[in-house]
Amino acid sequence: MQGQMMDFQLTITAILKRLKQMYSQVEIVTKTPAGTMHRYTYGDCYRRVCKLAHALDRLGVKLGDRVGTLAWNTYQHVELYYGIPCIGAVTHTINLRLAPDQLIYTINHAADKVVFVDVTLVPLLEKIAPHLTTVEHYVVIGAPPGCQTTLPNALHYEDLLAPEPDHYNWPELDENTAAGLCYTSGTTGNPKGALYSHRSQYLQAMVGGMSNGLGISSKDTIFAVVPMFHANAWGIPYTCGMMGIRQVHPGPHLKPADLAQLIQDEKVTMAAGVPTLWMGLYQELKSKSYDISALRMLLVGGAAMPISLTQAIEKDFNITVLHAWGMTEMSPAGTCTGVAPPGETCEEGSYWAWKTRQGVPVACVEVRIVDDEGNELPWDGQAVGEVQVRGPMVISSYYNDPSGDTQFTKDGWFITGDVATMCPKGSMGITDRSKDLIKSGGEWISSVALESALMAHPKVAEAAVISIPDQKWSERPMALVVARPGETPSKEELLEFISPQFAKFWLPEEVRFISEVPKTSVGKFDKKVLRKRYAEGSL
Ligand code: AMP
Repeated sequence: MQGQMMDFQLTITAILKRLKQMYSQVEIVTKTPAGTMHRYTYGDCYRRVCKLAHALDRLGVKLGDRVGTLAWNTYQHVELYYGIPCIGAVTHTINLRLAPDQLIYTINHAADKVVFVDVTLVPLLEKIAPHLTTVEHYVVIGAPPGCQTTLPNALHYEDLLAPEPDHYNWPELDENTAAGLCYTSGTTGNPKGALYSHRSQYLQAMVGGMSNGLGISSKDTIFAVVPMFHANAWGIPYTCGMMGIRQVHPGPHLKPADLAQLIQDEKVTMAAGVPTLWMGLYQELKSKSYDISALRMLLVGGAAMPISLTQAIEKDFNITVLHAWGMTEMSPAGTCTGVAPPGETCEEGSYWAWKTRQGVPVACVEVRIVDDEGNELPWDGQAVGEVQVRGPMVISSYYNDPSGDTQFTKDGWFITGDVATMCPKGSMGITDRSKDLIKSGGEWISSVALESALMAHPKVAEAAVISIPDQKWSERPMALVVARPGETPSKEELLEFISPQFAKFWLPEEVRFISEVPKTSVGKFDKKVLRKRYAEGSL
């Protein structure tokens, strides 16, 4: 027997209609590339989204066509986030941190028909444009009058919108219609596309607003520092539209002083980004005086947040650090430390132990951990296994890329490549990524835990731990350490510092000092490069 509910489609259009109807006075604030502040309301935004929709029709964009955006976090990017999918096309958010050949690969693979580009990023696009095979129009955003470009068929965003009407008859879309396309950072091989549906984006927006998730509401002002070109800025532009939340966007201004100033001036209550950002912000806030009294929460994900930094931020500034885990392939919400479940007993149930972990699965995400043979492991806080997930926000294959099929199990779970323990009430603690995990003498060693411990040392700026081959033990950990300016830590003092936390066999016998840890396009430690350097003997 089936329930008798209305056949109502969960679409981004439903969010768009809601933000127009209910939140037309709520503000969207952007720091423009020129450094001036742009302010307007959701009502203004809605009218321009309508104009954009007409303009896309005029350019010949049809149902299912991909439209690229090469842009920072700005109000125009928000308009594109709504205008493109609500006419039935797909927003391909191009990751501007990718190397040129990867940019070319992703735009050609997505077969983008139109690309919208921030004026500051035009030089980047001009260099690769001759290699792009499908793009029919380029639209430059924020160009000053008379701005010239070698991009073929280039149009100006404002010229495109100007003649169009500010109302639009939105099509009724099926909720499974494709809405967004993000490519993963590509630490191995070519980037792979995650194609989101309207439904997955709608659910992601709802999950973001749940009080056991991010716990945000229209009382908040959200500062989305996490880029809109990476995992849809964790769904924040849609959560904000759905909940009527005031948004602040930094444009290209991401230096710690810029972030601190915007948090102060715009009375930001919640800011979202990767740990590297908050490391810089913390130092800025310690060295200069800002009024950040409105800031109540930092949302941190994308990489493990060192507990030393969480403690420093929470203790020194009385700001809650919300540690979360997710993946591009998961829309991206996975787990978060919003509210501990009743009876959460793992790791003596201590507050900092809870904060060190990545939190419990959000609604719509199921998690299991498995051993090497695929057997499900218990949630006892001890068993270490590979994390697999499923749910309505998780992709079921990569976009037009069968080489990614190995990431899915026969029984329909996505293999994350992360390795974790699960506590009885669902708190997940990532210990490593499977491609990074160090197995020494048949036992696991967590490079993430070693890095976190090393980075807690006051003389250490960054530390990456990689696996190196060892005749006796198969593998051993090697630490690559970047000292803080003016400091010269010794190997002995670092090992002495971390040794109380680990079994003896965990301690890296090799500690080498380097000037910088290489990073991937999204700012994570690029261990592939370190391993290659090690193999070449250049470490
Ligand atoms: P991406 O799809 O680029 O966002 O990368 C997702 C991957 O980043 C995950 O599979 C994890 O390996 C890593 N990651 C994301 N959030 C966290 C976190 N809070 N702690 C540890 N690793 C994380």
